[in-house]
Amino acid sequence: MKPVIALVGRPNVGKSTLFNRLTKSRDAIVADFAGLTRDRHYGNGRQGKHEYIVIDTGGFEPDASSGIYREMARQTQQAVAEADVVVFVVDVRGGLSAQDHDIANYLRRLGKPCVLAGNKAEGMQDSMHLAEFYELGLGEVHPVSAAHGQGVRSLVDLALKPL
Ligand code: GDP
Ligand code: MG
Repeated sequence: MKPVIALVGRPNVGKSTLFNRLTKSRDAIVADFAGLTRDRHYGNGRQGKHEYIVIDTGGFEPDASSGIYREMARQTQQAVAEADVVVFVVDVRGGLSAQDHDIANYLRRLGKPCVLAGNKAEGMQDSMHLAEFYELGLGEVHPVSAAHGQGVRSLVDLALKPL
């Protein structure tokens, strides 16, 4: 069985872009609008010696009725349940948000292996931007650029090596 990687994170952090990068496909919808990818999306991928399945998710979505963010979308919970390892994607340009904390708390409770990916890190020289993400209590942030491909190979190594 190939290991399964679930990509989770709030809207617009670059999950679908990373999915495309990991699967080298154009299957996942990449949009400039938050929350466009509504359904779980599966893809096969390979990086070096690693073969894996990736699940893209729509992430958290705002609850229109209450104006606050509802509990983690069921599809995301399902993806996480199916996964061997979770790649939790945050946006190092957008910075840490309350939603990031909610997701981190959820993942910590589950105790599932989790790798923190700091996306949109291209051209960022100093690690100052990454430091705040330690607050999430999920360890080191691994800088990646899904759009440019930087750090993606080592992210996969890191996620799959312990499995
Ligand atoms: P999702 O909602 O988490 O699936 O995010 P998307 O993959 O749809 O990307 C949201 C936006 O972030 C799009 O405008 C992407 O082009 C942009 N984006 C994704 N990855 C990167 C990256 O590595 N660097 C930069 N600068 N922008 C990115
Ligand atoms: Mg998406």
